[in-house]
Amino acid sequence: MVAAEGRVRLLRRPFQADDADGKALVVSASGDAALDAAVFAAARSRDVPVNVVDRPHLCTFVWPAIVDRDPLTVAITSGGAAPVLARGVRARIEAMLPPALGALARFADRFRGAVKATRPSGLARRRFWDRFFEGPIADQVLAGDERGAGERMLALVNRRDEESAGAGIVHLVGAGPGDPELLTLKALRLLQEADVIVHDRLIGPRVLDYARRDAERIDVGKAPGRHAVPQDRINALLLQHAGAGARVVRLKGGDPFVFGRGGEELAFLRGHGIAVEVVPGITAATGCAAAAGIPLTMRGQAQALSIVTARAESGETALDWQALAGDGRTLCVYMGAAAAARIALRLIEAGHDPATPAAVVVDGTLPTQRIATGTLQALGAMVAEAGAGPALIMIGEAVRQAGAGSGMGIVPMPAAVAGAR
Ligand code: SAH
Repeated sequence: MVAAEGRVRLLRRPFQADDADGKALVVSASGDAALDAAVFAAARSRDVPVNVVDRPHLCTFVWPAIVDRDPLTVAITSGGAAPVLARGVRARIEAMLPPALGALARFADRFRGAVKATRPSGLARRRFWDRFFEGPIADQVLAGDERGAGERMLALVNRRDEESAGAGIVHLVGAGPGDPELLTLKALRLLQEADVIVHDRLIGPRVLDYARRDAERIDVGKAPGRHAVPQDRINALLLQHAGAGARVVRLKGGDPFVFGRGGEELAFLRGHGIAVEVVPGITAATGCAAAAGIPLTMRGQAQALSIVTARAESGETALDWQALAGDGRTLCVYMGAAAAARIALRLIEAGHDPATPAAVVVDGTLPTQRIATGTLQALGAMVAEAGAGPALIMIGEAVRQAGAGSGMGIVPMPAAVAGAR
């Protein structure tokens, strides 16, 4: 039919090597191994790109699966390894991208010159476009009202006040306990819009994969054997970048307001007149609880939750161990691994049952997660058994749900299992 319309030339005869002469590219879909090999050889010897369908080793290029939002094009390929997977990925991207995205790209293109002329600085331009694509005018284009959007766009392009110098901002963002899927949508968006990302070491390694590639990344974390960047130096860094107009993401493990020094940074930046937004994250206690299948509260077993750090650091007052644990309570101890044996001793001295169920979760929500379960009196040994890494200690009746109390053991429990409950 296409041949009848004259759009292709159909030759009803066997392939011959010189058919490949002077072609831009060659595709073989014969399904006949000998013929495919001959086509491949003919094309190769003439330096013509060749693709033999379903035979990756006979391809010098691949056809990617395409999501077409012309002029925006997304190509997906598994390099021939798993075409069905690539198609599945394409289907998901198709569903994600509004059909009018191409129209939006063309719309933006119409204003590129004007934006460039009114905003000579590259940073200002990128912020303009970031805001545009996230904003109401883009929504209007996607909704099909290009005329109305065009009028508003003109006004926006000619308005400069909102972009006066010094309009930087710091977002104090919780990155969650490690699994990047536990980022909030807001954290994800901010990571993708950031000019500068100041992050801790405890950020899950794959979380930063979700950040804008050309954002400047500054690691202020404490690595073993290396000193952390002191807090006043971190404050100064945040001030410097936000003061220069950058959008700064201060990325912290878990939640910024749970042992994350977020409060200090907030106060410092506000004191210097910098806009600050706090974006909560899933804290280690809730992340590890979910991953280990340990409810933090439970009818009849736990109606109070204590979150403490036992780090004997200047400024921390002594904890009232008696009030923290015991009947009807779940106790979560952050940064307690090194002091675990001492914590257990203090709790037992304060009158708590040495047989109270306890768990140690290391690298919670990460693929390397380990969970040691046992009792309060064995806490020191459990920490040792669970091994190195950020460790959350959980103590209380509800911890029994993870299989605690049945002696000590490492329970490898994928998050999916806990999630299925
Ligand atoms: N702001 C963070 C806590 C920072 S303090 C939050 O809200 O989670 C660092 C401590 O958090 C670690 O010593 C450990 O006790 C705990 N922690 C953080 N991530 C963890 C993880 N993935 N698994 C277990 N414990 C974790």
